[in-house]
Amino acid sequence: MESLTFYLLLLTAIIAGWLLGKLGSSKSTHTKSSNSNLFQDYFVGLNYLLNDEPDEAIDTFIKALEINSETIETHLALGALLRRRGKVDKAINVHQALLARPNLERDFSNSVRLQLALNYIAAGLLDRAERLLKEVLDDGGEAKWDALRQLITIYQTEKEWENAISCSSALLQNAQLRKDPALLGGAAHYCCEIAQQHLQNNQDVQARAEIKRAFTFERKSIRAMLLLADIEQREGKYKAAIKELLRVRAAKPQFIAQLLEPLASCHDSLGTRADFEKVLRTMVLEDSSTEAALMLVKITNASPGNVEAIRLLRAHLEHSPSAGALIELLGLQLDGVDENVASSLESLLSLVKAQAQGSSEYRCHHCGFETKNFFWMCPSCKQWDKISPINDLSAR
Ligand SMILES: [Zn+2]
Repeated sequence: MESLTFYLLLLTAIIAGWLLGKLGSSKSTHTKSSNSNLFQDYFVGLNYLLNDEPDEAIDTFIKALEINSETIETHLALGALLRRRGKVDKAINVHQALLARPNLERDFSNSVRLQLALNYIAAGLLDRAERLLKEVLDDGGEAKWDALRQLITIYQTEKEWENAISCSSALLQNAQLRKDPALLGGAAHYCCEIAQQHLQNNQDVQARAEIKRAFTFERKSIRAMLLLADIEQREGKYKAAIKELLRVRAAKPQFIAQLLEPLASCHDSLGTRADFEKVLRTMVLEDSSTEAALMLVKITNASPGNVEAIRLLRAHLEHSPSAGALIELLGLQLDGVDENVASSLESLLSLVKAQAQGSSEYRCHHCGFETKNFFWMCPSCKQWDKISPINDLSAR
């Protein structure tokens, strides 16, 4: 039913395009015989459609719509519609036919190139898309802003981070985009990607330079702060690392899970366990952090029946229900209870553990993609900084 609706829409679009073309060229360019051929084509196309031969139907409909200056926009939209429906090869044909027209106006020519580039990107023909987009860029018209955005998509896919940064910087020259948070955030991530490559090669100086560049795009880049903390820790500058990790907590408490391990390690190296416990208690109280509550129970070596740990987890669960804290609490409460109660608690514990194991831990709040692992860029919608932990049991 859905595809029938699509083809009927396609047919309507073509008829609308034909009518526009007819009205625009009513000064006698269309003869009665050409109109009759057109309707003949429609009936042939409709016949294909009714016989469940959609590809032939599309070809016939496209053929029926003569390209002239009045129907260019219809063709442009038709190609885009075909691409969105996954008919990328047909979309390429439509847009290539348009581009082959002689004396195409500059604006139309660039619009067609942009659409054709989108088709090539959808088909995975990135080199061809890049070539077309560079032509639009060289032309220097208003279409260059769209071309730059599409080029960024290509460079992200190809992991050509320096090129992605160049395009972002060019886009940021546009007064309307100068403060675009998605653009600035993306550019900061490209710098962090390069910094990570340097870190893998133990090139700390170059990595630091990239992190500094990331901060010029986004002053509160969480990823840049975490990378900087990592370098400080590697170089034995534990106090500087702790300062950076606490900046992360202040900017985005939902990243506490990522910073607890390095924070624990730095405090261990400095021999400042008491300070670490104090920070954890603040995180539990002010940020309702389950991870901090669990870490607190872990580092105090709370044994089953430990009253203080049980009190802490109970208080935490009251306002922040989470599977992790519930599992820990049930484990601690198993000690010293009646045999029957212990058996019931164990069953409940297994149930919650199984439930927690099957659940995703992170969700993209742009497209809803769920995953067990954390990603800076959502693998589904390719947006940066949209994935965050699912902490709340009630949100699962
Ligand atoms: Zn997403």
